[in-house]
Amino acid sequence: MKTPFELEHRLGYRILRWVLSVALVSGILLSTMQIILDAQRVSDSLDRQGSQTLALVRDAATQAVFSIDRELGQQVVDGLFQQQAVSLARIAHPDGEVLAENHRPLKPAAFRPVTDSIFKAERSYEIGLTRRKNSDLVYGVLSIHYDTAPTAESWLERSTLTFASGIARAVILGLVLYLVYHFLLTRPLLRIIDSLTQVNPDRPDDRLLEVPDSHRQDELGLCVNATNNLLVAIAENQKKHREAEDRVVRLSRHDNLTGLPSRETFLGMLAGAIEESRRANQMLSVFCCGIDDFKSVNEQYGFHAGDLVLQVVAERLANEHGDINLLCGRLGSDQFVVLEQHLKDDYQAVATAEWLLESISRPVDIEGHEVSVSATVGIALFPADSIHADQLLQRAEQTMTLAKNSGRNHFQYFVASLDREIRERKKLEKDLSIALTGGQFHLVYQPQVNLESRRIIGAEALIRWTHPERGMVSPDEFIPLAELNGTIVEIGEWVLDQACWQAALWARKGTPIRIAVNLSAVQLKQNDIVETVLKTLRRHSIPPGRLELEVTETSFMENLEDAVDKLKQLRKEGINIAVDDFGTGYSSLTYLKRMPVQHLKIDKQFIQDLLVNEDDTRIANTIIDLGKSLNLSVIAEGVETEEQEYYLKQRGCQLAQGYFFSRPLLPEDFEKFVVSFHTRLAEDNV
Ligand code: C2E
Ligand code: CA
Ligand code: CA
Repeated sequence: MKTPFELEHRLGYRILRWVLSVALVSGILLSTMQIILDAQRVSDSLDRQGSQTLALVRDAATQAVFSIDRELGQQVVDGLFQQQAVSLARIAHPDGEVLAENHRPLKPAAFRPVTDSIFKAERSYEIGLTRRKNSDLVYGVLSIHYDTAPTAESWLERSTLTFASGIARAVILGLVLYLVYHFLLTRPLLRIIDSLTQVNPDRPDDRLLEVPDSHRQDELGLCVNATNNLLVAIAENQKKHREAEDRVVRLSRHDNLTGLPSRETFLGMLAGAIEESRRANQMLSVFCCGIDDFKSVNEQYGFHAGDLVLQVVAERLANEHGDINLLCGRLGSDQFVVLEQHLKDDYQAVATAEWLLESISRPVDIEGHEVSVSATVGIALFPADSIHADQLLQRAEQTMTLAKNSGRNHFQYFVASLDREIRERKKLEKDLSIALTGGQFHLVYQPQVNLESRRIIGAEALIRWTHPERGMVSPDEFIPLAELNGTIVEIGEWVLDQACWQAALWARKGTPIRIAVNLSAVQLKQNDIVETVLKTLRRHSIPPGRLELEVTETSFMENLEDAVDKLKQLRKEGINIAVDDFGTGYSSLTYLKRMPVQHLKIDKQFIQDLLVNEDDTRIANTIIDLGKSLNLSVIAEGVETEEQEYYLKQRGCQLAQGYFFSRPLLPEDFEKFVVSFHTRLAEDNV
């Protein structure tokens, strides 16, 4: 058991002190009284002894003095001296003449100073010697002196004993009392105190006090039971308090009506998400959704219906998207906020915004009425629009308020330029979906030249889109969009079909060249891609060796096994596979060895600065060397100058394509170009 406080403060110790002092004082007092009484008694007995002795020898002494018999006198005196305590004995005549006398010195003793002050050093007794009692005729005087030392010595011994036993009694009593107190009170009390100190103030009823054994019925037991009852009561009280507090916190953290996080809570979540995105170097977007003209719902259907609409909307936002990256909150009466994390690009937010608009505008059934609301969404992006949670939210709200001015049921980005850009992309995406059926696409063909023989051995088919309003739109702009929404599959099929048709036509016209067609990663992922390609070839009766598919490194990285499998099937049929944009991606030897490819296409970005930029030159060289060692032919794309062509040829690159030879051409121009190119070559040779 640990000592909770110092010894001198303990009750047992104090009791011991008190009992000891009281017992000691009373012991001393009582012993002293006893000793005084004893001294009195001793004194009296000395006196009595003196008188008795005198009375005993009185007759003999009287006889001696009467008959002046010195011898008898001396006998009496000597007789008296038999008593050790007698220090002087004398028989004298009334005139003072001594008849017989004896004396001895007082016994020396260390205690004399003490006892002499009480009993005197010696005590003297005398008696007149008469023949008859009460006679006035005195014949002489008998005197004896007693030395008090012997009696005082035994008195002193007794007194010491009395005193010592008195003190010993007091000490024993004190100790016994202390022990009794210790075992009956102090020890159980210390135990109780110990278990009290172990009580957890947060959960006072977790460990109740133990009633010390054999104290169940006494005051200690009662005290422990009362304390335990108090602890239980306190715990219950605390529990009620906590529950109340929890309720208050929940209410303040979550919106009462919808159960969604409140503004404050959402801001906390947003700050956390921003931190996370910052670390992962990712984007996130905040959507502020304001319900359009919510007031009229309340006016038309009543507040209860309005509440129900809000609850349904909250339910949809919180649960229907099924994306864990989406978090919702309620900002105000008719405003919700949604946070989307891990965005790939700012355009991805469009899909979420559209989903929000759609979810909110789906009719809500309220007691048989179909109530419809719409919303306006303001979008702010991290890190572009702000890196601070409160500012980001504020910008989303601002954007939403601004957007409300220009109509309902739409979304708007915070940054005007981005908003315009996104809007244009959105429109382009829409236009793209009808471009194919609208016949807005056509293909152009860029010749591929063998640098050694300087003959055109093939052509890359490249798509062109003539937009009804914007005119020519670059494939760099619309192909990524088509890949995002999946229309690339249909478009790609059309390109392949069109290119094969063209190849068949040229073959019939006597120019059987190889056609290279770009195959998007999305297309390669399609389960039926092999089937589609083969069918197309069959449809146009094109030998598979006449077709080359250009795939980028990124298309096989996502699912290498699947890509290898499909490309192998195509290769088995005799179709050529080229790795497009080689050098811009992973350019890993390991996958290249596994891939059934025949051509590496050096991307035009390395050719552009060939001989100017050392790095680019080195990369181009490396690719050419890699091709040689893997036995793949290398084609350089984007050759624009004679120097580039010369260098590439010297360096061992077999094929080239670029503006130096020709821009991508319409079929009829391509036919003319082939003729003129080969004619020029023949003339040169002549
Ligand atoms: P890519 O496959 O790398 O195609 C080569 C691009 O470089 C073509 O641009 C071509 O016109 C351009 N080019 C060729 N020679 C030169 C040159 O000497 N200098 C310069 N500066 N550029 C040259 P284009 O036609 O605009 O195509 C851009 C990209 O769009 C293509 O890059 C390809 O990734 C994609 N694309 C084009 N058509 C199709 C298609 O039918 N299907 C798919 N999936 N993607 C296509
Ligand atoms: Ca290409
Ligand atoms: Ca390229």
